[in-house]
Amino acid sequence: MTREKELFVPKVPGKVGMYISAVSLLTAKPMSAMSVLPLGSMFCTDTCWLLHLGFDVVYVRNFTDVDDKIIAKANMREENIFTLANHSIGKFHDDMCVLQCLAPKHEPRVTSHIEQIISMTDETIHNDSAYVVDGDVYFSLDKYPNFGCLSGNSREELLVTPDPKKRDPYDFALWKASKPGEPYWDSPWGHERPGWHIECSAMSSHYLSIQCDIHGGGRDLIFPHHENEIATSWAACQASKVGYWVHIDNEFYHPLSLRHYLMSVHFRSPVNYSTANLDNASEADFYIYLGKPKQHLPLIQSLIEIEKVVKEVLSILGLLSPLSYTEVVLQLKEKALDRANMEEDQVMDLIGKRTQARKERDFSSSDQIRRDLAAKGIALMDVGKETIWRPCVPHKHEDQALLTLS
Ligand SMILES: [Zn+2]
Repeated sequence: MTREKELFVPKVPGKVGMYISAVSLLTAKPMSAMSVLPLGSMFCTDTCWLLHLGFDVVYVRNFTDVDDKIIAKANMREENIFTLANHSIGKFHDDMCVLQCLAPKHEPRVTSHIEQIISMTDETIHNDSAYVVDGDVYFSLDKYPNFGCLSGNSREELLVTPDPKKRDPYDFALWKASKPGEPYWDSPWGHERPGWHIECSAMSSHYLSIQCDIHGGGRDLIFPHHENEIATSWAACQASKVGYWVHIDNEFYHPLSLRHYLMSVHFRSPVNYSTANLDNASEADFYIYLGKPKQHLPLIQSLIEIEKVVKEVLSILGLLSPLSYTEVVLQLKEKALDRANMEEDQVMDLIGKRTQARKERDFSSSDQIRRDLAAKGIALMDVGKETIWRPCVPHKHEDQALLTLS
């Protein structure tokens, strides 16, 4: 966790242990290739690349198949949570299959690893980092000296729910009470269920020993999940250590662009990667899949070079997208709209306003519309009498900045 770019060196030469945190079975969006693929494909690409380099890779990706959201949804549907979880996992596997993602070596589910979670919770209590109150087990955050080492956040930034059972409001549950109708398991402390953060500590150490090389997940997991996970792993065994943390945004970029980006950079430690590079990769992919590069632009020339490399590498790895070029272009445009926080109708509306302004020779307004959209990563192109749009690297308001300076 140096926050610097580093050469990747595995703990055991030739072998790599990689653990990817929870594919959440119930995200805000429906399970679909577009919403879950980035996480799967990004780390699939890591694995493929490491395998290609000759490493013996143990890739583990867990499913959180019991948590408050799944229980709430199952109750709402009057469905058994295990049936719901199985259904969601099946859909996830279908998506991964369509996109030719490599399956992890192990895909542990929380509900199949209760024994390991109980054992780690027990160790944590034994090491005086957790306490039992009325059958619930809480982690004592003040016993952990390095909080914030991954995220840079302080414990005061944790969202806490008031709970009179906790000694300190920032403590979190390792093992918690099940409400009536919720699933529970026998434990030394009562019939209850596990908290979230300890699950990955327990499953990761079970499959990869206490020291894994790469631990990854969505960027939203850095805080508090991975921060708390480091704390629980440390509390159970102080020698536990993750070599490199890798986090990705799994919302705003097309999986192809994530793969493309990953191929162009080294692993970074601990968490930061450049969205500017992802914007560049998105723009390059748009041209590649649009299939109409303009030879005379130096930028496009370099994109053609990138295309050759991307295709070569993807074909080595057997990962060329099974989707048509047109479908990929549409998906890249959808992602650009997500990043701009706009709907296509709004873009079309602004295009209409710009056309009208130009008709009225109000070029200051029409230029402003173009600049505002470009600042959000949407470039307008006048093709004959028509104006179309494409994703672009978001432009800064350079003209405006100059005006402000002068
Ligand atoms: Zn995790």
